[in-house]
This record gives sequence, C-alpha cells and structure tokens, in this order.
Amino acid sequence: MIIAERKPFAEIKDAVAPYEKVLVVGCGTCVAVCLAGGEKEVGLLASQLKLARGQNGKASQIGEITVERQCDLEFIRPLSETVAAYDAVISTACGAGVQFLAALPEMKPVFPALNTTFIGVNEEAGFYTERCRACHQCYLGLTGGICPRTMCPKGLLNGPCGGNIRGKCEVNPDRACAWCEIYAKLEGEGRLGLIEAILPLHAHGRSTTPGTVIHPAYKRRYGAHE
Ligand code: SF4
Ligand code: SF4
Repeated sequence: MIIAERKPFAEIKDAVAPYEKVLVVGCGTCVAVCLAGGEKEVGLLASQLKLARGQNGKASQIGEITVERQCDLEFIRPLSETVAAYDAVISTACGAGVQFLAALPEMKPVFPALNTTFIGVNEEAGFYTERCRACHQCYLGLTGGICPRTMCPKGLLNGPCGGNIRGKCEVNPDRACAWCEIYAKLEGEGRLGLIEAILPLHAHGRSTTPGTVIHPAYKRRYGAHE
C-alpha cells in the first residue's frame, strides 16, 4: 500500500488561509490504513481548522467528506458537485489521489494535507516499512522475495558490496545487509545457486515517468500495440 504522513498543521492551515469555505476530502484506502488520511484523520483535521480559525475570530466553513478511493474516477466524480459550495479543497490522499482530484472539471484549488512517502507494508499498528520502488522490472523471484532495489540502500542488483560488516549494512549498521539476507533466504530455499547469477541489468527505459500500464484485456480499447 501507499504510505503517507500528515504535513505539519501550520503548513496546511496557511495554505488554505485565503479561502473561507474549505472542504477536507479523505481517502478510505491506503492512507486510512496508515492512519494519515482516512475518515478519522479528516475529522481531526477539520476540527483543528475550525478551532484555529475560531481562535483567529475568522468566520469560516469547513466541510468534510471521505471517499473510498481518490485514485479512482468512479469515487471522486460526484465530488465535482460537492465542491461547488466551497472555495478550496484539502485532500488527505496520497499524491496520486490529490492530482486526480485536482484534475476534475469545475474543481476548486486543491491542497495536499499529506506527504507521500513510499510503497510499503503495515508491519504492526503504526509501524510501516518501505518494500517496493515500483521499478517496472521485478526481481523478487530471483532474490528470495527480498527487493534488492529497495532494501539495499545502494539498490545493488548484484551484491553484497564489500562494505557489509558481519551481515550489517555499511550505510546503516543498524540494519541487516539486504544481500546477506537474500543469501540466507536463497540458501534456506535450496536455491543458493542463484546468488552467483548476474541479475539482468535494469531496463531504465521501461521506467520513464510518468508511467502508463494498460491491462492486456483493454489494449484494443485504448488503441495500444499488442
Ligand atoms: S524489484 Fe523491488 S522495486 Fe522492483 S518491482 Fe520488485 S519489489 Fe518493486
Ligand atoms: S552492505 Fe549490503 S545492504 Fe548495505 S549497501 Fe552493501 S550490499 Fe547493500
């Protein structure tokens, strides 16, 4: 899932200071799981804004709504009508959701309430770790399910580097060397021969940005080449 964290309140408050009526739009998927931008966090942010504006003696109207996913047109399309009553919108979605929302017709200025951090996992309550950099060329089948591009700070495709110290990473000695972990995992799976294989060079041409993926079943519909 996408992990994000909330911006400092002062930054959000200042961004929408020129606007009297502000709608806070939450997202009920990834950012809800990581406790950054779901319904509860929207309620909290809306309350903080009301309180801060009340303290400044500034009359204002703060609305709130949370949709299932802001990265899906089906869920955000109805917001085009909702925002008509507001002057600006705060989105608590990841950067993708904020952009999709901002591109809707008749949309008011949209301001992000979160900083999007990475694609990761929910290890324990409130504890998230990065696992994937969406590199367009997944190596996990050759590396025992441990991502060399993400878990090794150097993103080495053929490791370990000479810097590892008794299984610890030279960049961050508090962490295990990802390539030592890959070695141990492959050994445990009886696939250690893979450690000597040279991983194919990364095809950087595939990861040009912005990326597009068209599902094979929809290629004809979008006029894409087979
Ligand atoms: S190799 Fe790593 S960064 Fe690339 S797609 Fe697989 S998990 Fe993601
Ligand atoms: S010590 Fe291991 S994880 Fe750290 S940079 Fe070198 S190969 Fe990567």
